[in-house]
Amino acid sequence: MSQLGEFELIERFFHRSGKTAPGVALGIGDDCALLAPTAGQQLAVSSDMLVEGRHFLSTVAPERLGHKALAVNLSDLAACGARPLAFTLALALPRPDAAWLEGFARGLFALADAHGCALVGGDTTAGPLNLCITVFGEVPPGQALRRSGARVGDELWVSGTPGEARLALEVFRGTLSLPQAAFERVRARMETPTPRVALGLALRGIASACADVSDGLAGDLGHILTASGVGACIDAATATSLLAKPDQLALGYGEIPPEKRLEWVLAGGDDYELVFTAPAAAHGAVLRAAQAAGTPVTCIGTIEAAPGLRLRAADGHVRPCPYGGFDHFA
Ligand code: ADP
Ligand code: MG
Repeated sequence: MSQLGEFELIERFFHRSGKTAPGVALGIGDDCALLAPTAGQQLAVSSDMLVEGRHFLSTVAPERLGHKALAVNLSDLAACGARPLAFTLALALPRPDAAWLEGFARGLFALADAHGCALVGGDTTAGPLNLCITVFGEVPPGQALRRSGARVGDELWVSGTPGEARLALEVFRGTLSLPQAAFERVRARMETPTPRVALGLALRGIASACADVSDGLAGDLGHILTASGVGACIDAATATSLLAKPDQLALGYGEIPPEKRLEWVLAGGDDYELVFTAPAAAHGAVLRAAQAAGTPVTCIGTIEAAPGLRLRAADGHVRPCPYGGFDHFA
């Protein structure tokens, strides 16, 4: 079989002529793509890189990797309350493996199509496996969710079930064992995270600050606290309960010690949930927005004036949060 060339590869796996999207005036094939966002809206732009061995295991199915590479980028648009428009893909591949590329493209485009987000360009080169996606979204001026808007007295919320992706990592490391059905669930959470785009859009005008959780809840919340010049206190029992919901207990999560559950909820990593704040008066509006978006949310604490992150135990005892975020260079 003859070796796949660079341009043949792009043509065969990434160039889907006929597939056009609103907001895209010119897609793959020219020196630049041309985007045509809705008049008056701002472009929201974000890049995320996935490096083999650091962000994913070499054993991951290519279809799941295609999903995840785009999902982590859409998660950034979600955190800003932006609507996805288009993305570019810069790809370094050790060799042009058609079966791998086919799986990768399938996972990538399934998620892209679900969000009406078109692949409009990129770059392809030989090299150690490395994926970099840049996403473009749109948001009306003044409506983007920012990290800097949290105010004293606001409630602190998180979407979904932070910590589940970490359970999968612990199983892969051999430091945790879970029944098969539980492992399949947490593995899917790690390998095919759901970007909370609908929730981000629904929280426009309601949330005072928002970030997505990629490096652990405590760490990413820390960015909101720093940017907003405030502190926060998390209810430890509520946070722990995010890994002890009835359906999770039915799958065998009950075997995990509560202190580990708390640690993994707060510092698990790879969650791609949204952590956000909103005025207490907007409690009902947050719940309605979450319901409309089909995404569960939990109020886990409050924003306070004293800087730093604290945990409140059931008996009222308050201690500094011992968990931080993940730092690639620490
Ligand atoms: P240039 O030389 O101008 O960088 P290339 O010859 O590398 O352009 O790429 C040709 C076309 O294919 C361009 O429109 C580019 O955006 C697109 N392209 C290259 N690699 C990818 C990829 N991995 N996914 C999508 N489009 C790509
Ligand atoms: Mg090029």
